[in-house]
Amino acid sequence: MKAIKEEIRIERAPVSKITEVDFNNLAFGSVYSDHMLVCDYKDGAWETPIITPYQPITLDPASKIFHYGQSIFEGMKAYKDSNGQIWLFRPLDNHKRFNISAKRLAIPEIPESHFIDGLTTLLRLEKDWVPTTAGSSLYIRPFMFASGKGFHASPADAYKFMVCFAPSGPYFSGKVKVLIEETYSRSANGGTGYAKAGGNYAGQFYPTQLAIAKGYNQVIWTDDNTHEFIEEAGAMNIFVRINDTLITAPVSDRILDGITRKSILTLAQDQGITTEIRKISVTEVVEAAQNGSLKEMFGAGTAAVISPITTFGFQGVDYDLPELQHSYATSLKKQITDIQYNRSEDKFGWRFKV
Ligand code: PMP
Repeated sequence: MKAIKEEIRIERAPVSKITEVDFNNLAFGSVYSDHMLVCDYKDGAWETPIITPYQPITLDPASKIFHYGQSIFEGMKAYKDSNGQIWLFRPLDNHKRFNISAKRLAIPEIPESHFIDGLTTLLRLEKDWVPTTAGSSLYIRPFMFASGKGFHASPADAYKFMVCFAPSGPYFSGKVKVLIEETYSRSANGGTGYAKAGGNYAGQFYPTQLAIAKGYNQVIWTDDNTHEFIEEAGAMNIFVRINDTLITAPVSDRILDGITRKSILTLAQDQGITTEIRKISVTEVVEAAQNGSLKEMFGAGTAAVISPITTFGFQGVDYDLPELQHSYATSLKKQITDIQYNRSEDKFGWRFKV
């Protein structure tokens, strides 16, 4: 990795807000640490990032982010081990995916040095913000958007890359009840589904609100063409266990290539669990639920880690998943979090020391 030419300048916050935070009752992503990273793209080049106190930013009303939604983001976590050492999990993969998203949204790609040096410098400054309470971590939100202005519907000439931190507890509290979507779509072939584009999420909110009004927490998206195949959930890839086989949909134009998803596949295959990466039809899942061969369904993502689904709804019927003593979800969650928190051997070289 090429280092950034100049050192990252740090402007420190005069007082820390850390004493105001109840680390034993953290929600997800709703309190922010003392500092943030900001890096501007101007005149065809990325400038050296700077770290400033966490604060509002000023943008011209004509900035293209407001009009054309040219914006992308990533979601990562920092974990603190029992010696106080901080770790990231496969961060180079997040950087790669960030640039894949950038390219799709016609945003200039950001060098690895800016992304990784930027967020590790910020992390070392904010190390006290990485929680140690069980189930908590520091959620990392890198994002990039069009700050350049103009009402012409074309890419901006200036962008901002920023990183903010939020000490966070679990993404879901309680049961995860999902609705298999039959009308709306999250993405389509040739679209932006594989990118972490802000607009992909905005488009999900309304159908998700409808599902919440019916008593579900999340929508499971199906393919836009036929609505016959299960794709993924709002911020998670989906795994289905039928008998002892663990199945997940192939990534495509429409599905985000989740880092948790691919890590779970590696861990499961490594311990001899049969895995299948193939299309999963809703009919197959409903039939498996009816004949008892559907053992588990779970979501997988950085924020949600592994979240077992307790019920899924389809065409007005709710199907409850059994409560298993030896679930793949529980065992795989333990394995992945043990690697993340440096409690076990890192056989695949996924941990990244900060
Ligand atoms: N799908 C979508 C739509 C997501 O937003 C996320 C969260 N990034 C995931 C899947 C899971 O990806 P990852 O495991 O890399 O967090």
